[in-house]
Amino acid sequence: MIELHDCAALAAHCSAHKVDPQLGRRVVRRVLRHGQSLQTALEELPQAVPVEWATGLAAGLLPLVDQQDSQADGATKWVFRASNGSSIESVLLRIASGRRSLCLSIQSHCPVGCRFCSSGFLGKPRALQLTDVLGQVLFARQHLHAEGSELRNLVFMGMGEPLLEERLLHSALERLTADGGFGFSPSRITVSTVGIPAAMLRLSESFPKVRQALSLHSARQAVRERLIPFAKRHSLEELRRTVQSIGESAGAQVLVEYLLLEGVNDGVQDELNLATWLEGLPVKLNLIPYNPPLERTSLGTVDFDLRATQRAAREAFAGRLRERGFSTTLRYSLGSEISAACGQLAVRPR
Ligand code: SF4
Repeated sequence: MIELHDCAALAAHCSAHKVDPQLGRRVVRRVLRHGQSLQTALEELPQAVPVEWATGLAAGLLPLVDQQDSQADGATKWVFRASNGSSIESVLLRIASGRRSLCLSIQSHCPVGCRFCSSGFLGKPRALQLTDVLGQVLFARQHLHAEGSELRNLVFMGMGEPLLEERLLHSALERLTADGGFGFSPSRITVSTVGIPAAMLRLSESFPKVRQALSLHSARQAVRERLIPFAKRHSLEELRRTVQSIGESAGAQVLVEYLLLEGVNDGVQDELNLATWLEGLPVKLNLIPYNPPLERTSLGTVDFDLRATQRAAREAFAGRLRERGFSTTLRYSLGSEISAACGQLAVRPR
């Protein structure tokens, strides 16, 4: 089957069946960009096409295993069956302003093993395919098309560390930003990472407009390593140089993510270390509330003793960093009561 996001294969398929490539591009636009179903897009073609051509096309949707809708904030979580048989989760965020964002997964569990994240599971994940990543986006587009709205932003902040799947990530970004494909503006895509300097630089070189988000969570090496075991591999100074270099070469601001945990990284010394680390960097700081797992059972690496910094303390922390001159926002999580917020997407038994 020819998947619509594969422009070269589609062109060859059109040529083999003597179909005007314009018709192929029209189907792609309607399905991948506008979220129409493949069947409707084919039925609405202005001229007849050979049956073999039409039946040889596949939109590339993933089988849906489960859907949960938040009654509190409009988030929707989907669980899909990936091509390797594992489950992956995506979250559609319906922001109050009307914006629609999709948080998507690139691994079926995450070998980084952060202590605050239910996706962490030490062990090698079985690789996902390009169609698994793009299928999440297509599903969201079709779902929103039916609701009469549009998908605007993509964030690689679901299950998995995108820079450990660098080739897959780059292929997905090519298809997602291709004019003849999904057609997303690169500036509406964010890739989150715990910090793999060489891969961050390559991403910035290949996709300078794609936004990078660095999960810092502490500017004290020992605390960072406690929260993110993978952090042992790269020092805070190395990460600092990387962020600086991305700013200089791509003119891009990296988003620095900082999850606030009571008694772990929200003290006076933490704030001072953070301020020192941020000084002079082209970044925006985003403070994130902790969303503990809803169930105290996990297959993975979660530390169930972690607690969220209270809201008033989070606001005070943000206020002090703003006073120091740092551009700082406080994130409010969506979907926490359906286990769809940051850190709650879970490894599932198979
Ligand atoms: S927070 Fe991100 S990098 Fe850390 S375990 Fe979860 S998915 Fe992996």
